[in-house]
Amino acid sequence: MSGLFLHAAELPSLLPSHHIRRLRPWWSSSYAPILRLSSTSAFSRHRPMVAGKAASDSLKLGIAELYDESSGLWESIWGDHMHHGFYEAGEQASIADHRAAQIRMVEESLRFAGVPDDPQRKPERIVDVGCGIGGSSRYLAKKYGARVQGITLSPVQAERAQDLAAAEELADKVSFQVADALEQPFPDGQFDLVWSMESGEHMPDKEKFVSELARVAARGATIIIVTWCHRDLSPSENLKPDEVNLLNKICKAYYLPKWCSAADYVGIAKSLSLEDVRTADWSENVAPFWPAVIRSALTLRSFISLLQSGWKTIRGALVMPLMIEGYKKGLIKFTIITCRKP
Ligand code: SAH
Repeated sequence: MSGLFLHAAELPSLLPSHHIRRLRPWWSSSYAPILRLSSTSAFSRHRPMVAGKAASDSLKLGIAELYDESSGLWESIWGDHMHHGFYEAGEQASIADHRAAQIRMVEESLRFAGVPDDPQRKPERIVDVGCGIGGSSRYLAKKYGARVQGITLSPVQAERAQDLAAAEELADKVSFQVADALEQPFPDGQFDLVWSMESGEHMPDKEKFVSELARVAARGATIIIVTWCHRDLSPSENLKPDEVNLLNKICKAYYLPKWCSAADYVGIAKSLSLEDVRTADWSENVAPFWPAVIRSALTLRSFISLLQSGWKTIRGALVMPLMIEGYKKGLIKFTIITCRKP
């Protein structure tokens, strides 16, 4: 998930700055001066264009910094799952049930994909692509007794995820590293569950993204992508200018490249000969989430933190209502895509 309202300035209290600097990824040094460009404006209907290397490096740096800066504060308020909750349609959720709703999102995703629970067939090797601070990784490791490897662009997240794993005595089961989902540091055919929970919206090349998920999947593996899409378009249709405008504002604040539709994902999965490709639109099931995030930002503590945290954070907060607007207009679709590697 990308919409963190909490950024920058609080972090010194949570994460010492030497710690962040020490963990800077390799791509940050050479591009730092030209960075902070937050992508987007291209909304391609079919094949998103591959971003140039400099643009892609700057996007990666922006994402890494966003999560380096914001994850500690998110964790302190929302816990270790950095994704939407799954609510019964029409349910009015309070902040108190958000953690249960986030776990429900994980469980509903596994159920939709038909991931088996029984000891003979349950997943044993899992990759968590865009793992945040490892909420899903640890949950899946415990649920299945599986080995899980998580990757994130944020060094701060990777380290925090590892610390949390150690605290839960899972260090022998789960591991985390800084790596790019588009060039995963794994050999082919490694995993029998490939999991991407709300990281796909950050990927500048959706074909490369899905093809990497498929590459690291073992034969018969399940691939689960839960992500933000724009609405499906008919063959002659483009997004309307006001829709493009709205998405552009969200992209700027949350370091997202161009969006695609669920149908685009299906097309990509089929072009890679993946099987049992299925999708669902869960937009109604996540509707209470953003209002809950906004309410949580309005508690005294969060609000003071927000005001202290600078323009980027405030901009992120200002954009949150646009997510709600996007869902209400039927423009943003919270989508699950699942498939199987033959
Ligand atoms: N899946 C996690 C975190 C979601 S936040 C959860 O549900 O809690 C989005 C995550 O995607 C962040 O960890 C971010 O670092 C990661 N991400 C975005 N682009 C990435 C890329 N190209 N490679 C690896 N991780 C990426």
